[in-house]
Amino acid sequence: MRAVALDDAGQPVLADVPEPEGPGELVRVLACGLCGSDVEKLRPEHAGVVLGHEVVAETGDGRRVALVHHQACGECTRCRAGHEATCEIFRAPTIRPGGFAERANAQAWVELGHGVDAARATAVEPLACVLRGAARVPRGRILIVGHGFIGRLFAAVLERRGDEVFAVDVDPARAGRGPDAPVDAAVLCAPGGVDTALAATAPGGTILVFADAGAIPAGPVYRRELTLVGSRSATQGAMREAAALLPALDLPEPTVLPLERFAEGLSRYRSGGALKVVFVP
Ligand SMILES: [Zn+2]
Ligand SMILES: [Zn+2]
Repeated sequence: MRAVALDDAGQPVLADVPEPEGPGELVRVLACGLCGSDVEKLRPEHAGVVLGHEVVAETGDGRRVALVHHQACGECTRCRAGHEATCEIFRAPTIRPGGFAERANAQAWVELGHGVDAARATAVEPLACVLRGAARVPRGRILIVGHGFIGRLFAAVLERRGDEVFAVDVDPARAGRGPDAPVDAAVLCAPGGVDTALAATAPGGTILVFADAGAIPAGPVYRRELTLVGSRSATQGAMREAAALLPALDLPEPTVLPLERFAEGLSRYRSGGALKVVFVP
């Protein structure tokens, strides 16, 4: 089947790869979103890998579903404490070979409502990650640092629950309303935003670290009694919640391209020309 696989240099190329195998069920991929974490994996050590985990697919019996990217055991101490993403088995892939392919083997999914657009519904996975992260952000005045697609998802979710939301971005064209005074919490969605988040957060405030954003100095955290919380990835429960919530959110339209135009989509994502790129086989 056709898939976009990484070559020896770690660059994505359209390739003919073996049919999916392994545990789970064969599904037909309808659309797969490009995530910032996919872009970070374009390196030689990932040669041969088929990326893509924001997958909307059709099951053998014709149901439209969003695939679950990782699964926790649900029973260990970490899972019971709500840190499913750190569960021992969480890293194991549940979508083989990956979403940038015609077909995949899937171990879990959540069903989508009827008539849901496949490209738009690829946002279920990132939205699930955001819902899980947002649960750790106290209510009030919140600053989003990094106003790309993930930042927009956070803004939509937090506004919906009644927070006052501000958003900044290194790209001035992407920034939203800047904060007029210190905020109760900041959500760090992009690398390079640590200082901005620290400077904006009021004493006693919270910073949600939602990206591998680099070193965070201890001084201001100590002196201003800040709370740092981390959140990464989603759970099946959050995926279900996201599938139900997605139709109600006003989100930017994705740029949809065929797998053959992967390189073009990647460069449009990297240049900032496209907020979200979705590929269809
Ligand atoms: Zn992702
Ligand atoms: Zn576990």
